[in-house]
Amino acid sequence: MAKSNILLIYTGGTIGMVKDYASDSLKAFNFKKLLQRIPELNQLDCAIDSVSFKEPIDSSNMNTVHWVQIAEIIAENYDRYDGFVVLHGSDTMSYTASALSFMLENLSKPVIFTGSQLPIGDLRTDAKENLITSVQIAALTEKGKAVVQEVGLYFEYKLLRANRTTKINAEHFEAFQSMNYTPLVSSGVHLKVHKEALLPRKRQKKLKVHKSLDSNVGILKLFPGLGQNLLQSILSTPGLKGLVLETYGSGNAPTETWWTEMLKKATASGLKIVNVTQCAGGGVIPGQYETSVHLKKMKIINGGDITTEAAITKLMYLLGVGTSDKTFKSVFETSLRGEMS
Ligand code: ASP
Repeated sequence: MAKSNILLIYTGGTIGMVKDYASDSLKAFNFKKLLQRIPELNQLDCAIDSVSFKEPIDSSNMNTVHWVQIAEIIAENYDRYDGFVVLHGSDTMSYTASALSFMLENLSKPVIFTGSQLPIGDLRTDAKENLITSVQIAALTEKGKAVVQEVGLYFEYKLLRANRTTKINAEHFEAFQSMNYTPLVSSGVHLKVHKEALLPRKRQKKLKVHKSLDSNVGILKLFPGLGQNLLQSILSTPGLKGLVLETYGSGNAPTETWWTEMLKKATASGLKIVNVTQCAGGGVIPGQYETSVHLKKMKIINGGDITTEAAITKLMYLLGVGTSDKTFKSVFETSLRGEMS
């Protein structure tokens, strides 16, 4: 059987960082050196090529231009490779990976994001296992077709659907969680693929890459005491087109008149407001409590059990592709890439 061809795309992140002794902080370093540190990659039964960002970055510096760059690398190499592994800093990995899941329509090959909490050169690094298993998952085929045909995020023995993930720990190797969806693959003595959890295999449709993302969006996390001035200034941000409102519990928000009136005015003037819960698990159930009835009445978009990361990137994507005002709410409330239940 032919070997799988895998393309590694290195964007930066802790995995390839070294200590800069002048500033005593971690900085991205040359990718070639990174590969030399993992000779085990040569033992895998697949051919691995790599490309690197010219300037690898800490993922705190990620923006939509970088997302387009990653999408373009995948698009340009789509026919030549069987799978893609994107090395990325963990801090904003869930955002980038969620964005890519929307940008890559009709994806029928694996795009696996991974990184690490400790640099590859560190004795106790988690980078090797994350990278090696990600490559193995990207190379998995069945009857000549890729097993995983979606964007995933692999960290600490689990492949998760990328747009279901959130970084939940800055210390533990288990840095990501997918509270509302089960893992796609578990890695133990054997790699166990949970087939029923994967997005169904698609009939070969041509990959469509959406590069236009609208970043005129924002996130507002509610807290008791949030004042009128703050809400007012956020809603009157020049050019603002979409807002993710992180509400309490199952989608609840204050019912004071000024709150309701301001939100009503904003939605009436065309602002797309998405209700998501600030809880780690579960989702929005409009109207379950009296404190969400007003949001339901003013047709605020129900984010269901979507993560904030997926909600903000879905907003950028749907605004970017020019979704009409008439259909926006229903399109957003539909699961496009398995991002909501
Ligand atoms: N600050 C790093 C980054 O996100 C953290 C990591 O890679 O885990 O680039």
